[in-house]
Amino acid sequence: MQVEVSRRRFLQGSVAMSIIGGSSVGVTNLLANEDKEKGDFSPTTKTGTGEATEVATLCEMCVNKCAALARVENGVVTKLNPNPLFPKSRNMLCPRGNAGLQALYDPDRLKHPMIRVGKKGEGKFKKVSWDEAYDAIWNGTKDFTGMQKILEEEKDNRSSFLFCAGEGMAEHTFKSFYSAFGSSNWLNHASLCLQTVVSGYGITLGSYPTADLDNAEYIIMAGANRAEAIVTPDTMDIFKRTKGRGAKLICVDPRFTNTASKADKWLPINPGTDLAFVLALTYVVINEELYNKDFVEKNVNGFDKYKVNIIDNKYTPEWAETITGIKAKDIYQIARDFMAHAPKAVYYPGRRSTFSNSDFQLRRAMAIFQGLSGGIDTKGGLIFGKKLKLSPHAGVEPIYERAEARAVNKIERTKGQVGYADCAVVSGGGSWVAWRNRFLENKMSYKVRGMFIYKHNPMMNMPNIAKTAKMFEKMELVVAIDTMPSDSVMYADVVLPECTYLERTDPVKTFSGVEPSIAQRNKVIDPMYDTKPVMDIMRGLTKKISKPLFEITKKYDTDVQDELKEAKEEEVYTEFDIAKPFEHSQEHINEMMVKGIYGEEAVKSLKEKGVFYPDMDKYYKKISVNEHQYYPEKKKYYTVNGGKAKTNSKKVECYLPNLAKKCVDPMPMWHDEYSFKVPAGKFRLLTGRHAQFTQSGTSNNMMLRDLMSENYLWVNRRVAKEKGINFGDMVEVYSKVGKTRLKAYPTEKIAPNQLFFVHGFGEESEELTWAYKNGGNDNAVIEDITEPVYGAASMHETNVEIRKV
Ligand code: SF4
Repeated sequence: MQVEVSRRRFLQGSVAMSIIGGSSVGVTNLLANEDKEKGDFSPTTKTGTGEATEVATLCEMCVNKCAALARVENGVVTKLNPNPLFPKSRNMLCPRGNAGLQALYDPDRLKHPMIRVGKKGEGKFKKVSWDEAYDAIWNGTKDFTGMQKILEEEKDNRSSFLFCAGEGMAEHTFKSFYSAFGSSNWLNHASLCLQTVVSGYGITLGSYPTADLDNAEYIIMAGANRAEAIVTPDTMDIFKRTKGRGAKLICVDPRFTNTASKADKWLPINPGTDLAFVLALTYVVINEELYNKDFVEKNVNGFDKYKVNIIDNKYTPEWAETITGIKAKDIYQIARDFMAHAPKAVYYPGRRSTFSNSDFQLRRAMAIFQGLSGGIDTKGGLIFGKKLKLSPHAGVEPIYERAEARAVNKIERTKGQVGYADCAVVSGGGSWVAWRNRFLENKMSYKVRGMFIYKHNPMMNMPNIAKTAKMFEKMELVVAIDTMPSDSVMYADVVLPECTYLERTDPVKTFSGVEPSIAQRNKVIDPMYDTKPVMDIMRGLTKKISKPLFEITKKYDTDVQDELKEAKEEEVYTEFDIAKPFEHSQEHINEMMVKGIYGEEAVKSLKEKGVFYPDMDKYYKKISVNEHQYYPEKKKYYTVNGGKAKTNSKKVECYLPNLAKKCVDPMPMWHDEYSFKVPAGKFRLLTGRHAQFTQSGTSNNMMLRDLMSENYLWVNRRVAKEKGINFGDMVEVYSKVGKTRLKAYPTEKIAPNQLFFVHGFGEESEELTWAYKNGGNDNAVIEDITEPVYGAASMHETNVEIRKV
């Protein structure tokens, strides 16, 4: 979003606003029988009999946003097919993508606005109209406090509200509401996901790159499980070339995963010791002078200091063997082979969550190691790719005098060093765990009393769910916008049902890469039930509360009071009208963002084909059933920055003095405290993803449950035998913070002191027919431990015990 200095930031043009109201009252648990509605799907729905139409859309079953063509017959979406025109997804939809139909026709969907009438977390709600829901947000009810009272009592401190969101194309729309409202407390999924990888690479290379897996000859994949976690065309690029077919894949993972089984070599590593592995690879490369000397001399900053760090600290393969469990001879071999294939060699950056407390430095070390090979911004190496421009559109971002700064605890460290109590750096998305814990411990300098939550499920996604439940209970007003009655929605005071991705047009998006393009999620059918896109929800809510909010601002904001002495109230209000960003339809905004640069043809292409890029008609060719040309080889953007890093210096940054000022190592180093001890009788808990499920977001999807019915606990076969645990036995996993139950899967594919199960199962919401108490919830037992730099949740730093039940 374009951010200007002026308070006046409005969208252009004007489109009439409409609020669709529903009605009907009654106390209901969410699963009350609903009348069948237009376009509803049932086992008796006949398909293939009517005339079918196809609408180009983008999948939202995970973050990848593959392009799909939705077939619609008599108002029913009957099939999702891959859209061959999108370079990113290249005519492929994975099982999750195919199961998007179930997201639309899930009978458990949130269908109407609701307000809480039972105890918090109990799941008892009253069905209301949209207007009544907005009214309850503002005025509260006898069961919860409204926004008006909170802001009056906090004297217009907009930061007394927290806003949080999960990843999604409409996250931006919700964030426009947060910006206009004027709070400084924004939390997103990043600190529960890939904060450290994005920041580690960002600070070292200037951008988070992707790997050219189609052309790399040598790939180290450590801790990333591409064969299972996300199956997309670039996943296929790797596996179609392993085992003597053009690329060598080294898989480094504590578990024998599907990726390990398809790799040329699997190295089981002690969890959380990858940093030692990379430092040792670097040692070999520096000590044997295997690095690209010319590239390093011209394009790497602080190499001499880093070299001294690596050599003087004796980060040898022999040293690393004692920490990682990987044989020194393998480390020597991999370092030499990697450099022999450079620059067509990739240390895969990964998309994974933060696993250990050394994760930020691990990412820095990986990026530097790649830099030493010269394989940056080049074919076969790490690439930045090109991004096609879109016209910016402005929102509204008033400045509220009374709004406090983000709720963080600054501490004085040694002289000249600054930082925060919970982490050294506070990113835009903040540290969710640290924020929650400060809130619970009353360690904030002002009160936060209400929260808005969009497409996000902290009850499932954040370690230590007992604390998250307490956070929800302590919040005086919780407004949840979602499609499903998740565990977090159960704690809401007001529920605003969003329609699914097949029922809405989302903000047009530009996808960078070797073959850049722009794509658009178009509405396939009208929203079912009494649901709306977040754009319409925000439009209705802000129309209702914008003026009353200004009345509160007038009372407490002396700047505004001064302005009012000199200007008419209507003029001053225009600066504070938070309804402005939502005046237009999403379709109108998308058109504005595209037309000025690429013309009418691009708008048409996005509506009809879902995809656009310059010269698409000329370049795109179907070569065979599964092969398509998007750009001719000569036109691909392997190199966009002259083969250099994208940092300000255009160099790979080994040594960053600014980190030292924040008490963070200025270059990657190993510390003994990174070593994790597993006491006898306990296990280190590992967690991860699966190709059929996207965290808790798909846990209720009946079609996907056909492929994987629940998660199982991986336990070493010998350990299981000692404990009398057989396949399918119910086991309880417990830690200091909680417990969960799931069935056992004894296997040799995991070490005796580790346990593993897939994340996203074991929801407690009774309104989720298929997900309710199905499998185990990892975050019930994972302790709330954060890594020290960004405060990202360290998911693999918990010891647990097990017992057969
Ligand atoms: S990888 Fe699968 S779930 Fe993810 S966007 Fe693509 S089709 Fe959808």
